[in-house]
Amino acid sequence: MSKRVAVVTGSNKGIGLAIVRALCKDFDGDVYLTARDEGRGQQAVKELEKENLHPKFHQLDINSKESIGKLQEFLKQNYGGLDILVNNAGIMYQRTSTAPFTEQAQVSLQCNFFGTLDVCDALFPLLRPHSRVVHVSSRAGTMALGKMGKELVSKFRSSTLTQTELIALMNQFVSDVKAGNHEAKGWYNSAYGTSKLGVIALTALQVRAMAGDSREDILINSCCPGGVATDLYPQGSKTPDQGAETPVYLALLPVNAGKPQGEFLGEKKVIPWML
Ligand code: NAP
Repeated sequence: MSKRVAVVTGSNKGIGLAIVRALCKDFDGDVYLTARDEGRGQQAVKELEKENLHPKFHQLDINSKESIGKLQEFLKQNYGGLDILVNNAGIMYQRTSTAPFTEQAQVSLQCNFFGTLDVCDALFPLLRPHSRVVHVSSRAGTMALGKMGKELVSKFRSSTLTQTELIALMNQFVSDVKAGNHEAKGWYNSAYGTSKLGVIALTALQVRAMAGDSREDILINSCCPGGVATDLYPQGSKTPDQGAETPVYLALLPVNAGKPQGEFLGEKKVIPWML
């Protein structure tokens, strides 16, 4: 049987690096620290080697289909599959950012939602039975939902929402922002929150899409790591290792755990959002 393997996206620093650290300790297989910048990635590997941990490295820019394709091929050739996928890579514009909101909407949704989706579309076919998939989302997503108009809320919460419909919703946000009427159309004025809501909704529909898949016991969940002091959110009170706890809990759910499945979690507890 091929060696088991885990991949963590955007893991050269912050919560992703802490997730790799924890998986190196507790996962029985190879753990891939990935980074869009090879130099920053190799530096992070060295940092963990000083702690006597031995992650492997592969370049991955989730905004590049070419980069995603190379990782897919590498995993196929060298492992014949994938056992843990943690979609952690993400960006957030600071409140003080002077970038136009149109740019913030486009760039945030591209990386946080579409980049994550592209990674899933490329790597899900490699998932083996008993795989675990974790999307590191944010409570900013459910907060954005809470502030949206009723019609949008019911679309995001629909138990029949398809990937095509979700993609259309995400594109609609960007085009409404460009048209300058997104708030009038019921959107909340948060590019980051909208992108993370997209990831939460994606989780539920990916589980529905997997129904009937011959591979048993694949669990897919999303989570909020809490407010973690990183470059993305310097005001956070948790350490990256603390922020990694819920994602790592989901990544290491035991064989045939059955649940959680398709849920959004914080502090290792399900946060109901479809009610
Ligand atoms: P961070 O320290 O800024 O780390 C983000 C990581 O994502 C970095 O390694 C970054 O790489 C990488 N990344 C960004 N764009 C990428 C791309 N296109 N391809 C590959 N990697 C990319 O932030 P963090 O706080 O650890 O955030 C990790 C995740 O947790 C994010 O998804 C974030 O939204 C989520 N989150 C964080 C908090 C918090 O309080 N910190 C709260 C809720 C959710 P570079 O070094 O190359 O930029």
